[in-house]
Amino acid sequence: MTKLEQVLSGWNFRKIAAGCLIALLIAAIGASAAAAIVFRDRISFAWQYSRASETAEKDDRSDLQNEIDRLASSSPDVADILILDSGNHVVYSAKKSQFGNGILTLAKGGEGNSYLVCDRFADVVFKYVRSRDFMFASVFNQDFGSIREEYENGSFYESGFSGKTIYLLSYIGEKSGGMKIYVISSPTSVPGGTLTLKICACIAMLFFMIFWVLLALWTYQDAAKAKLCPLCWGIIVLLTNIVGVIVYQIYKRGSAVCPACGASQNRMNRYCFNCGEKLAESCPQCGGPISKKDRFCPRCGKQIKS
Ligand SMILES: [Zn+2]
Ligand SMILES: [Zn+2]
Repeated sequence: MTKLEQVLSGWNFRKIAAGCLIALLIAAIGASAAAAIVFRDRISFAWQYSRASETAEKDDRSDLQNEIDRLASSSPDVADILILDSGNHVVYSAKKSQFGNGILTLAKGGEGNSYLVCDRFADVVFKYVRSRDFMFASVFNQDFGSIREEYENGSFYESGFSGKTIYLLSYIGEKSGGMKIYVISSPTSVPGGTLTLKICACIAMLFFMIFWVLLALWTYQDAAKAKLCPLCWGIIVLLTNIVGVIVYQIYKRGSAVCPACGASQNRMNRYCFNCGEKLAESCPQCGGPISKKDRFCPRCGKQIKS
């Protein structure tokens, strides 16, 4: 018995797995609670955004203005939320910003025409973001930093486009009559948000690694019990994880297991090679192996009395 086998023989993997699962559950609850606290404003903003989208589909203007006001005040990142008619006239502005009156006609412009510009606001470009991406981006703000960076890199050599303020622009529903709702924002990072996400990722990674190593150790212990090569199977599972476990189980299924010592062996064995335990009955006539279900010897055809 190797030293590792000695150590592992004392381990109860069922208890260890149960302990890990409870620890994982506690860590998951703790991490989600921490994330919910850190991102609470963003989550409520995303929720408010989806409510405003739903209201936009109905035809009640005063309800829509209330929802839009609520959405605008739920995050300081919102520069303005505008309702435009079919002629691009701003008919409602939640924050009465610079974009809040007159006509707002957007055209493609900027680096590679992948931004939107308006003649009236020479120092501003908008990056259009689809509603679903926008909600996700406003919770985590992962995209905005890279959008800004992309714009700055792209517009660096292009005269007339550098040094402008870039806003995200998303588009809520389209009401009958060509009405449009623009949400214009300039997302900032959540304080401590990146750190919280990194810690959550580290915890998840840690549990994943524990699970990975435990699976290899369990296979090592099991293979040692079955008198198979524990080091070979342990390494296979360490390298391939669950795939190795499945292959190991299939391999074990194909062989007989001694009920006394647990050694895995050839199905044709009548006595255990490890402890000498009788594994199969033998035919009284030819001595061939027979199983409990056999009514006749499969080798010589002798009838077997139960
Ligand atoms: Zn045995
Ligand atoms: Zn026989």
